[in-house]
Amino acid sequence: MRSMTTTRKLIIFTDLDGTLLDRNTYAFEQATPALLFIQQKNIPLVFSSSKTRAEIEFYRRKLENDHPFISENGGAVFVPRYYFSFPFSHDRESGEYLVLEFGAFHPHIRETLEAIKKETGIKIRGFSDLTEKEIASLCGLSMIEAGYAKKREYDEPFMVEGGDKEVEKVREKIEEMGLSYVWGGKFHHILGKNDKGKAVEILKEFYEKQFLSILTVGIGDSLNDLPMLSVVDLPVFLKGKDNVSEEVLSAIQNITMVDDTGPQAWNELILNMLHKLGI
Ligand SMILES: [Mg+2]
Repeated sequence: MRSMTTTRKLIIFTDLDGTLLDRNTYAFEQATPALLFIQQKNIPLVFSSSKTRAEIEFYRRKLENDHPFISENGGAVFVPRYYFSFPFSHDRESGEYLVLEFGAFHPHIRETLEAIKKETGIKIRGFSDLTEKEIASLCGLSMIEAGYAKKREYDEPFMVEGGDKEVEKVREKIEEMGLSYVWGGKFHHILGKNDKGKAVEILKEFYEKQFLSILTVGIGDSLNDLPMLSVVDLPVFLKGKDNVSEEVLSAIQNITMVDDTGPQAWNELILNMLHKLGI
């Protein structure tokens, strides 16, 4: 990243698991200095995650974040009702939000996964098959958070018994049946034709309308983040244990790669970036 001073309004889109949150403990405390700085400077911080709305709301409360957010891999964008100063078309209203939906609905996703299970005989276990207790122990979540994680609206995380061959077969079937497959860093995901990139693009449009000139940052650590990284000005990939090939990454223009994941790396990266941008 070159050193530059910007007058454009900075907007940060960030993944949560393995990025702002520790991949295993979900801790974010190490990112506190950067989080405080961002808050002080009034920089919008948009969570863009494969987590559900209920889970993201839990972290929004914890982090005192009142910006829009993207749930379930771009399944929906939730915008606080009076956040933007102009009206925009949306699919529904829910609580304090105007909601734009991009995803397929969860019951349809579940049915499709069930059909694939029957057809292929491959042992697949989705979040819907698991109890809260099982999700809690698999993911290292509290029971409350496991309950939030089960509130799927547009995406089903699942596990496959077997190796690459079985996963490839399941992936093929998912695509044949008109849905999408993506690896999220811990689980496989079945979802509609949505991705984080499409959701980020609509928010970029809104922010541009609001601030006229914007500079967007995107940060992620997994394959499902790449569509988001492809549509921002300053994409950052945190390289952890996920095997994303250099070739795939270098196809994303202007990408910065960091050799670490989680809140410590996030903190350092953001503080450096803001410094370089003269913010
Ligand atoms: Mg992640």
